[in-house]
Amino acid sequence: MIKSSSTSCEMPPWVIFHIPHDSTVIPSEVRDQFVLDEKDLSRELIKMTDRHTYDLIVGIFPASQIVKFPVSRLVVDVERFESDYDEYMAARGMGVIYKTTHELKPLRRHLLPAEREHLLSKWYRPHHELLTVAVDKALNEFRRALVIDVHSFPSLPLPYETDLTAYRPEICIGSDSYHSPGEVVHAMSRSFESHGFEVGINTPFAGAMVPAKHYKKDERVQAVMIQIRRDLYVDENTSFLNESSTLVQERLKNALLQWLTLSGEMVPPFTASSADQPLIR
Ligand SMILES: [Zn+2]
Repeated sequence: MIKSSSTSCEMPPWVIFHIPHDSTVIPSEVRDQFVLDEKDLSRELIKMTDRHTYDLIVGIFPASQIVKFPVSRLVVDVERFESDYDEYMAARGMGVIYKTTHELKPLRRHLLPAEREHLLSKWYRPHHELLTVAVDKALNEFRRALVIDVHSFPSLPLPYETDLTAYRPEICIGSDSYHSPGEVVHAMSRSFESHGFEVGINTPFAGAMVPAKHYKKDERVQAVMIQIRRDLYVDENTSFLNESSTLVQERLKNALLQWLTLSGEMVPPFTASSADQPLIR
């Protein structure tokens, strides 16, 4: 994939990219937890990993503004609530620590409480701490933060999904009722559409990522999710980049730059003068 020719100084410094599902790394110390053989585990990783989402973004933004989870979501899923009591996907065996595959078949052996705790303390909590620190740093320096959660999704629904009939546009924008101002979401949608993408809001996936410390407590933290349909840039059977990937990355970059320029000009709701000014100047 190409690297962006733009310089980082163009980028709003309060933006943080969160890349949770890019990695295929299964640390050897936890390999024995999975009941799949190598072939089936490889297939599961192809189905469940948002491959190359880091590559799509790192050429656009400096690495210092990217928080990437370093191991596979099959180890722990940092997008889930830590407690299964809070996480509705736990009912499908896909809470923070997956028990089932994308086909809702057995993925893992039963874990001892100490093994679960080890996964959370080694991978889940440190990652959330990194994201929280990045958001706090942006708030301290710029009085605002924007978390952009980047994913990809398959062109056809996987059996574990909750709505198998949902519309699957090329770009899905996920929003949160508290942290995603309508102006920001609509500007994002328009920017992607103006670069030729078919866009949907909260379909087939919904929501946005906000650290628990700030969730529904601090409106200075804005958040959106971008889900890119995988057939745009990879062969979905192998996860290898396809012949369109370079062009798609360029269009993504330009759409993001256009949108972030607009977002940067939007008056945040928390500034003293905002009551007298329109949202888009
Ligand atoms: Zn994902």
